[in-house]
Amino acid sequence: SAKTAGKRQWRRYHPELQSGMAERARLQAGLDSSSIETSFMVLYQPIVELTSGRIAGFEALVRWPHSTRGMVLPEQFITLAEESGQIVPLGAWVLGQAAAETVRWEDSVLRGGTADRNAPYVSVNVSPRQFRDEEFYNVIRRTLDLSGIEPSSLVLELTESVLMYNDERILAEMSSLTDLGIRIAIDDFGTGYSSLSYLREFPISILKIDKSFVDELGRSPEQYALVEGITHLADTLGLTVIAEGVEDVRQQESLISMGCRFGQGYLFAEPVGAEEAEHLVLAPPLGRLAGLPATPAEG
Ligand code: C2E
Ligand code: MG
Ligand code: MG
Ligand code: MG
Repeated sequence: SAKTAGKRQWRRYHPELQSGMAERARLQAGLDSSSIETSFMVLYQPIVELTSGRIAGFEALVRWPHSTRGMVLPEQFITLAEESGQIVPLGAWVLGQAAAETVRWEDSVLRGGTADRNAPYVSVNVSPRQFRDEEFYNVIRRTLDLSGIEPSSLVLELTESVLMYNDERILAEMSSLTDLGIRIAIDDFGTGYSSLSYLREFPISILKIDKSFVDELGRSPEQYALVEGITHLADTLGLTVIAEGVEDVRQQESLISMGCRFGQGYLFAEPVGAEEAEHLVLAPPLGRLAGLPATPAEG
């Protein structure tokens, strides 16, 4: 059943144990012969409000559970899928899954929710090749129509590399998506080489501060100042900030103190299956800071 499949312990797949090129070719062959619907699965990681631990949304993260290789992580196959073009149908499938799941979360909140809960949004990673595909807009339209998801409940995560080609077409494509009510996030913010001017030029709503910056928090005053600077910049531009890879309470506290509102990371929850995600939507807040006053809604 889906339940036991979600709980099954998959080995991590270590490509370095295999010979490089041959292994790549075997993985590629495996990808080519895989039917998307039956071979891949989507996990969901909560994005929480740092002060309350409430779930604001989930990031959809694809997995390839493989019979002999164990759980193959995206870093091992996304690049291959990009090179072969398979990322286009795979990405469309992830979007469909994530949108359908979001509608179920909305239903759960409507049925079982208390007044203090908003239905979570879903945030989906979109690779450059997928975004530049001429059918991408139609894929999004179809996803909205088929699932019935509110456009405001859908966030698309793009990396800075997409914006490097300071291209009118990219701007037009982004604007047509945001005109629908969809929001755009910049993923792994701070790791790319783009000039910051794109933050004014493109219709962006969210910055996701890369995990590498969060890791270094507390290690030096300079690192703290860097993340604080990003947070203030975002504030000034009216952007929402999400810190990635929050693993301990001290990072959470630092982020709160510099005014960063949202975070995701193992401190709150690892990526979980759809069923567990649905459960978390109505569960108590995640990783609350001890000693924070309870909000009135929680009595
Ligand atoms: P990302 O979008 O930056 O996603 C965050 C990654 O950090 C995820 O790895 C997540 O599992 C991991 N993570 C979250 N919290 C923590 C933490 O506290 N500690 C640590 N060590 N890691 C944490 P994952 O799922 O392996 O995904 C890796 C990358 O693969 C993603 O990075 C994203 O760029 C890409 N990816 C994942 N799913 C998709 C997809 O459906 N489409 C595309 N195009 N790319 C995807
Ligand atoms: Mg992401
Ligand atoms: Mg990221
Ligand atoms: Mg990342």
